[in-house]
Amino acid sequence: MSHPNPVSPIDLHMHSLASDGTMTPTDLMQRVHAAGVRVMALTDHDNTAGLAEARVQAAALDIQLVPGVEVSSEWSSQGIHIVGLFIDPANNILQGGLSRIMAFRDWRALEIGRLLEGAGIPDAEAGARAMAGSRMVGRSHFSRWLVREGYCADGNEAFGKYLGRGCKAYVPSDWIPMTEAVGWINAAGGSAVLAHPGRYKLSGTRLRVLLTEFQDAGGIGLEVCSGSQAAGDREHLGRLARQLGMVGSVGSDFHGPDVGHAAIGHLPPLPDGVEPVWDRAGIHLH
Ligand code: AMP
Ligand code: MN
Ligand code: MN
Ligand code: MN
Repeated sequence: MSHPNPVSPIDLHMHSLASDGTMTPTDLMQRVHAAGVRVMALTDHDNTAGLAEARVQAAALDIQLVPGVEVSSEWSSQGIHIVGLFIDPANNILQGGLSRIMAFRDWRALEIGRLLEGAGIPDAEAGARAMAGSRMVGRSHFSRWLVREGYCADGNEAFGKYLGRGCKAYVPSDWIPMTEAVGWINAAGGSAVLAHPGRYKLSGTRLRVLLTEFQDAGGIGLEVCSGSQAAGDREHLGRLARQLGMVGSVGSDFHGPDVGHAAIGHLPPLPDGVEPVWDRAGIHLH
């Protein structure tokens, strides 16, 4: 796959083995360095366990590391991801919240395993957990295990047949309300940014309702440029950000060289007139 954009010097959304990425924080940072990205955020799902290792590498490689997290939440029965940037990972309110989500994930993994067993696929929970390589077990790990064991041809089939909403091994998500996630991020001194808004398939009207509630809760930004939404979303999300007085963020949503198509730093710049979320943190790129 070719990448039309020159490398962005900043990439504020990526995953490591601490969630469903496939690289250790150390290997990830080396790849970030090689890609020419100078400012990055590690935003693992629902935990910050990778940040300590990432911080060591950031110093060694002269990369500016923005401490981040991607919180799984819910709004109007829909899964919504909130990226928290510039967070203090030591904050108790944030960590208390995240540990609730991790407990839900543990329970959900057992349920998914039970449902797969009912569908004739035994031992999936142990398999996914072994695949995870860290405490966080997600549907991506089940998906990779199902493919590795030959139950599915690829991730699309795994989600389409078993793991996706309404499928055989789907456990209705019981994430925390979106507004609570925003509250935890703000409590930890962070900036709350709506992740990949183009991926939720909301109508323009619904997206505006979501954003109004998001702003009322203290959310300030939108991922205007994301490796996990259509490139064409950038323009209308930029317009929305300007209209609503929200800041913009850019993030590849990189999970690993063999996962999806996202590549580190391959992002267009924010559209004209959209204030970057990093300006407010005193980061000035030139
Ligand atoms: P979870 O947070 O455990 O419910 O898993 C959601 C994660 O699974 C997302 O963040 C994606 O990384 C991945 N994912 C969701 N849908 C798909 C899909 N259709 N194909 C592949 N990966 C997916
Ligand atoms: Mn993921
Ligand atoms: Mn996400
Ligand atoms: Mn992500």
